[in-house]
Amino acid sequence: MDLGLQGKWALVCAASKGLGKGCAQALVAEGVNVVITARGLEALHETAAELRRLAPGVEVRPVAGDITTEEGRAAALEAAPQVDILVNNAGGPPPGDFRDWGREEWIAALDANMLAPIALMKATVDAMAQRGFGRVVNITSGAVKAPIDTLGLSNGARSGLTGFVAGLARQPRLASRNVTVNNLLPGPFATDRLRKNTQAAAERQGRPMESVWDQRRLAVPAQRYGTPEEFGAACAFLCSVHAGFITGQNWLLDGGSYPGTF
Ligand code: NAP
Repeated sequence: MDLGLQGKWALVCAASKGLGKGCAQALVAEGVNVVITARGLEALHETAAELRRLAPGVEVRPVAGDITTEEGRAAALEAAPQVDILVNNAGGPPPGDFRDWGREEWIAALDANMLAPIALMKATVDAMAQRGFGRVVNITSGAVKAPIDTLGLSNGARSGLTGFVAGLARQPRLASRNVTVNNLLPGPFATDRLRKNTQAAAERQGRPMESVWDQRRLAVPAQRYGTPEEFGAACAFLCSVHAGFITGQNWLLDGGSYPGTF
């Protein structure tokens, strides 16, 4: 299927690794020019080189910076001649007990997982509407639908974003101008973050990492973790010209982990 995205410009945030990188790969393979961001320079430039090899005709602009800050967002926006596609992403907040979190921890989680994506949508969606095409994909988490006890910061901050997006996506001035806003909710995907979280859980439990990794894998009905490539493919489809009638949705990608009917 031709996704009809040749020559568009995407800003893919937090994309040197993991799910953001999967989205950048899938978009670049469709002929989309990308600005990719991350804080660490080495992985960012390695990923940019990989993307250029994948699609030599496409422009890839790596921008180093923290997307949760105003400066990081300004640099990312400046690097793109226009933003037709916005993929919002940032690192997830640390696990813990809410009794240990103060205002500082909550503000950091809100900045990363709610306010940064809202600021980037504010900076881009009206121009998308003027041009008559726009796609926003927010990477949130399965924790929005089924909260994870130790990830209270994520459960809370991402639910705030989800509520906001539900309203924004339904504004006729966006929806009627071919601008869609959707959220992708990852369940367990085999990325650095999942490995780090599993390692930390293994240490807490005094068990080998492989045993906790396998136990978690077997708890997924698909009996495996998702891959960044399949996450990217879902993102690219949502960004495609074929998905213009899909907006305000929360798509769970979790191998059947969520136990509810709806
Ligand atoms: P990952 O493999 O650790 O990759 C995170 C990427 O984001 C890296 O490129 C990282 O580069 C970049 N990044 C992190 N914080 C950033 C910031 N403040 N500014 C700019 N770039 C930043 O993580 P992932 O598994 O892909 O997760 C992506 C998001 O999905 C996270 O919010 C995570 O909580 C959520 N999620 C993941 C899963 C899963 O199973 N993997 C499940 C549910 C939700 P630098 O560190 O160099 O900046």
